[in-house]
Amino acid sequence: ILTLSNLTKKFGQLTAVKDLTITINKGNVYGILGPNGSGKSTTLGIVLNVINKTSGNFEWFEGSITGSDALKKVGALIESPNFYQYMTAEQNLKLVCRIKNISFKKIDEKLDIVGLLDRKNDKFRTYSLGMKQRLAIASALLNDPELLILDEPTNGLDPQGIHEIRKLIKKIATDGITILLASHLLDEVEKVCSHVIVLRKGEKLYSGSVDEMINSNSFFEVKSNQKEELLSYLK
Ligand code: ATP
Ligand code: MG
Repeated sequence: ILTLSNLTKKFGQLTAVKDLTITINKGNVYGILGPNGSGKSTTLGIVLNVINKTSGNFEWFEGSITGSDALKKVGALIESPNFYQYMTAEQNLKLVCRIKNISFKKIDEKLDIVGLLDRKNDKFRTYSLGMKQRLAIASALLNDPELLILDEPTNGLDPQGIHEIRKLIKKIATDGITILLASHLLDEVEKVCSHVIVLRKGEKLYSGSVDEMINSNSFFEVKSNQKEELLSYLK
């Protein structure tokens, strides 16, 4: 679905993303794992065309489609969407549909997936934080994306809210949507993802299956100079 080749982003002197090569294949749940400032959001911003790359390349759908056409097949939640407090959930999603030229028919279907169908007539301001986040995910699903990109979707939620969002992500993946999730929590990646890309200071330390990362020692050997850093994630 998506390949990054030697992607680099510099902000002045600072290299936020360094020579990053990643392949995102259909049907998997990928985690981008790394501490604050490791380049997760910058990477997502580049592929979503909201941040300009400095060098390197990325390619959507094997290059068959480019630019905004490719992004029509992608759903993204990278910052809190601007929903209107005094409009209902349904009215808010209707607005999104109008802007993106999507049929209103999708609204109930997506609200059902995120478990908010019975609350669609409630005003957005009455929603809990977890419900707001689930509505944001419903909104990102309106265009029936092949890939759903989520940047720290459980940030700021209470344990129940976190549990619900993680369960929802797994359900969405089961429905066949590929997922790319940025997180600074190993625990989250372990619970939700099949594959992981570990970043530190914009550099890839590891990419592969989550099980292998946790169970095998081999990746420590390969990257023995960075062992301490990786171990700190595994705590
Ligand atoms: P977090 O977990 O805090 O969300 P992150 O992994 O998403 O972190 P990024 O937001 O991608 O990290 O930031 C990577 C680095 O680039 C950081 O050092 C950050 O300060 C820097 N950076 C990000 N955006 C800008 C910008 N617009 N201008 C200058 N520096 C930036
Ligand atoms: Mg970030």
